[in-house]
Amino acid sequence: MSIENTLSYESSWLSMTDTVLSGESLSRESALQILEADDDQLVTILDAAYRVRRHYFGKSVQLYYLKNAKSGLCPEDCTYCSQSKDSTAPIDKYVMLNAEQLIEGARQAFESNARTYCIVASGRGPSEREVDHVCSVVKDIKQEFGLHICACLGLLRPDQAIRLKQAGVDRVNHNLNTSERFHDNIVSTHSFQDRLDTLQSCRDAGLELCAGMIVGMGEKQEDVVDVAMKLAGMGVESIPLNFLYPIDGTPLEGQEDLDPRYCLKVLAMFRLTNPDTEIRIAGGRERNLRSMQAMGLYAANSMFVSDYLTTAGQKAEDDFRMIQDLGFTITAGDYESAQLMERLGQTVGDCSTDEILDPG
Ligand code: SF4
Repeated sequence: MSIENTLSYESSWLSMTDTVLSGESLSRESALQILEADDDQLVTILDAAYRVRRHYFGKSVQLYYLKNAKSGLCPEDCTYCSQSKDSTAPIDKYVMLNAEQLIEGARQAFESNARTYCIVASGRGPSEREVDHVCSVVKDIKQEFGLHICACLGLLRPDQAIRLKQAGVDRVNHNLNTSERFHDNIVSTHSFQDRLDTLQSCRDAGLELCAGMIVGMGEKQEDVVDVAMKLAGMGVESIPLNFLYPIDGTPLEGQEDLDPRYCLKVLAMFRLTNPDTEIRIAGGRERNLRSMQAMGLYAANSMFVSDYLTTAGQKAEDDFRMIQDLGFTITAGDYESAQLMERLGQTVGDCSTDEILDPG
């Protein structure tokens, strides 16, 4: 590639930053261009994404901790999922954890410096008893730890969403997973519209929305752009980006489409299309980003600590070290105690507006 070409590419990526910071939306064509870009352009693309990330979130990193509150035994046929009826993966299978176990999970979240505790249950959707149970435990957790609570319980009816909100749940996670066009390739027991309906019910109930996707299930780059554009249009608060961990025993076993450079381009594209939305590097981080995990945080501003639903994550200490090595800070919300701030010393930032709106 000639020097002239290199310079023109560089100025085109950086002009995307100007477009986004001026309040304009990134075009679909530009978003696709990022995913199709030559690997030689990666550092400049990440630079473009980082300028936007820094503008809205400074150098802060929000940590999430999740608890698999109910595992396996799911009648749905999501091809990527080890908890599906069609999976033969040797995972733990159990019904909803009791209050003590869920509160213990909250304690671990608190001690891992996570700001948000995600209560995740397998299944198409919760029973009335399960909703009652989560509502009652959430009240206790809020009182004891003050954590931000995200519930991921499958498809929800409007009345269930309202009850969760009234109990103190802050946010519901329900991923789009993939584009509307590709959705039927990965699951047949529920539709893309079912997913949108659940998100709408939660929005109507006043809950924050967390919705993202799983990259690497055989979709086209256009599908990844479709999801980014759809989520931008919906104005969700949080986008978790999973990179497929093709678990043995699931129908997607052996599907290895991803490389770390592509994963980084996906993260950058989501940042530039959803500039002020929290973007989280979720499942498959260690496996797919490998030695380039830290670079993902130049685009994303959030990640999980500890284990995922049925796969292990790297140790929390290694995550803290990575954040520290980057010169970034773990964000503590307004309800975190002074005790937590003291325990982490310099590695914890304050989630004040001033810090988030770093003009640099
Ligand atoms: S993703 Fe959820 S709904 Fe789909 S099989 Fe897994 S647990 Fe069931």
